[in-house]
Amino acid sequence: MTPALTLRPGRERSVLRRHPWIFSGAVQSVEGDPAPGDTVMVRSATGTRLGSAAYSPASQIRARMWSFDDEVIDEAVIAGRVAAAARRRAGLATVSDACRLVYSEADELPGVVADRYGEVVVVQLTTAGAERWREPLADAIAALPGVRCVYERSDADVRQREGLAARTGVLRGALGDRELTIVEHGLRYAVDVAGGHKTGFYLDQRDARWLVGVLAADRHVLNVFGYTGSMSVAAAAGGARSVCTIDSSGPALDGARRNAALNGVDGGELIEADAFTELRRMRDRARHFDLIFLDPPKLAATEGQLDKATRAYKDLNLLAIKLLAPGGTLLTWSCSGAMTMDLFQKVVAGAALDARRSVTITGRLHQPSDHPVPLAFPEAEYLTGLVLRAT
Ligand code: SAH
Repeated sequence: MTPALTLRPGRERSVLRRHPWIFSGAVQSVEGDPAPGDTVMVRSATGTRLGSAAYSPASQIRARMWSFDDEVIDEAVIAGRVAAAARRRAGLATVSDACRLVYSEADELPGVVADRYGEVVVVQLTTAGAERWREPLADAIAALPGVRCVYERSDADVRQREGLAARTGVLRGALGDRELTIVEHGLRYAVDVAGGHKTGFYLDQRDARWLVGVLAADRHVLNVFGYTGSMSVAAAAGGARSVCTIDSSGPALDGARRNAALNGVDGGELIEADAFTELRRMRDRARHFDLIFLDPPKLAATEGQLDKATRAYKDLNLLAIKLLAPGGTLLTWSCSGAMTMDLFQKVVAGAALDARRSVTITGRLHQPSDHPVPLAFPEAEYLTGLVLRAT
């Protein structure tokens, strides 16, 4: 008999709205002694069958819905979902050979992220349910056209919340060179899949790299939290007059040097420093830039950290606005899911006020189409950006 999870009275409502998460507080009882990652049948307090879910006994998110009907989850279903997710991204191949192939709940594969870098796909499994299907997932990804290697980077902190240890290494094929090169909008970027951030690269800033290339012509550009300098390369290739990159990580800046060389552009000024300190120094020296890209790491990992993070976002944006030359443009970002567009706009408005600059929104930016957001699962949205022009 399939194990079952029975919800408390009334707690079926979010499942009926097709929200995929069942929190521990919504669970009345669990029958049949499921192991971590096992599929459980989900039913309401009155016994109505609602679908099936992956069981995560260690997590506050006690189960994640695999289906909202009576579909039985097996290897063929997993493979079908992987293939469908890949097909939905097929059109992106015209702009890049790298994209997010699978984005977790948005592709009906909770806990599974798969990023394609040319012939190599890097997977990150973050839940007990995803872990349970590791081998079928690896087979399904390896079977996609043009895939030579499947590499696992299940080393995200969130795994601890599921009681899972870190796990990395080759799952299928051979990696060959640890550092690969991708081509996006005609520019080449090195990706360190084994040691880089996330799965190696910030695929979610693809659209912004293109925009920076368009905006950078004849501009003095500052790239804050620049990582491996992808924005700096896009700016230089777009005809920037000068480019300056700030990051606190030496290895990231080494990557920026390599990326500039890969494209035959000037790497510009590379500053290894804490961005908060360096922006203050630049302010004190009255330096100015025409185009600033401000993309800090996730400053609020949870809702509880939002207050403190809000102050940090305001501080950074205040400094960046002060560094803008008259008529300059700021592309400012938050990758904290808890920071909504509304709140972010308010934070930036406060910063502009304190900077005594008149600032206008000329664009709103979000994560790109390979990181889609189901209407039933707004939690998938995490990347928020504003394009601002200061007078
Ligand atoms: N915009 C980049 C991604 C930025 S990721 C891109 O699209 O590729 C955030 C970067 O901030 C990381 O490279 C990290 O090394 C850097 N970082 C984190 N804290 C920092 C700090 N206090 N000062 C400067 N850089 C920092």
